[in-house]
Amino acid sequence: MKKYDCIIIGGGPAGLAASLTLGRARKNVALFDNATNRNRVTQASHGYLTRDGIKPSEFKKIALDELKEYPAISIFNETVLEVKRNPNGNSYVVYSEQREYHTETILLATGIQEEFSLQQIRDYYGKSLFSCPYCDGWEMRDLPLAVIAENESHVLHLTKLVFNWSTDLIVFTNGVEVSVDVQRDLKRKGINIYTEQIKQLHGNDGMLERIELTSGETISREGGFVVPSFYRPNQFAEALSCEIDETGAMISDGAGRTSINGVYVAGEAEKANPSSLLIAAAEGNRVAASINFDLVQNRF
Ligand SMILES: Cc1cc2nc3c(=O)[nH]c(=O)nc-3n(C[C@H](O)[C@H](O)[C@H](O)COP(=O)(O)OP(=O)(O)OC[C@H]3O[C@@H](n4cnc5c(N)ncnc54)[C@H](O)[C@@H]3O)c2cc1C
Repeated sequence: MKKYDCIIIGGGPAGLAASLTLGRARKNVALFDNATNRNRVTQASHGYLTRDGIKPSEFKKIALDELKEYPAISIFNETVLEVKRNPNGNSYVVYSEQREYHTETILLATGIQEEFSLQQIRDYYGKSLFSCPYCDGWEMRDLPLAVIAENESHVLHLTKLVFNWSTDLIVFTNGVEVSVDVQRDLKRKGINIYTEQIKQLHGNDGMLERIELTSGETISREGGFVVPSFYRPNQFAEALSCEIDETGAMISDGAGRTSINGVYVAGEAEKANPSSLLIAAAEGNRVAASINFDLVQNRF
């Protein structure tokens, strides 16, 4: 029975960077990916040094081509369904749709996913509605934008940020009332706010054109920014008994070691919060060094 040094679940920037570092450290790695990376809905990724504006699919292709140079890295386009700690010791079993795989260590790099209370946002997300101004603010600069935020604390935070790229803003809370103070701060900057529920988003091919309120009033907007909720799309951390704090973040030592020996986490999966391609890749690189160090230490 083949036993890998590390099974990496997730081939986003975190898992890909970790694979590269471990492959170069002569470790037998199995990388699993099922192509549900969070940025699959968008056409261009920004802000990754040397790759600004690259298509997510091209980014992944370049990374996978680089991994193919290292014979100890096996790549499986399979969904991992279950992970278990082997009762006989410090090793793990990973079950995909196809079969089971054995490993000494496991890296959770499965990222996060978004949820929207207003389902129609999905149709525009990644094309004209975005959640990260640092990723897409430049492309949306000076356009007439909507800020859709359904929570008072998000309203001012996101509006202040997006105002950096466009001052032509209208805030929509989709039925949530906000305090007089927030309304006054927005008014001071000439920003209108609609607290009425949104009835319908109108546009073509993901490009927003108008927002219709329940009163029937429609407001023209060419795009905007939204605040999704984020969640880990699996229960692997729980199944492996990894400690999770009250914010939903996995407890780690800051270098990817979770509370369970042999189980590591990298990328957005760790805090269940959004970050960026560059940060996720850097974390994958750093956590791979922890994994390698622990393996060499145990074997020396
Ligand atoms: C619309 C949009 C635009 C964005 N634009 C930018 C941008 O311009 N610049 C930027 O820096 N960032 C951008 N981001 C954010 C960026 O996508 C994330 O920060 C980054 O992808 C996080 O990397 P990760 O490796 O943690 O997770 P992900 O990239 O999400 O990768 C996780 C991987 O795990 C795999 N996986 C999950 N579960 C399983 C399973 N059970 N079995 C097998 N595989 C599994 C998935 O297939 C996926 O490939 C954007 C995000 C979105 C949604």
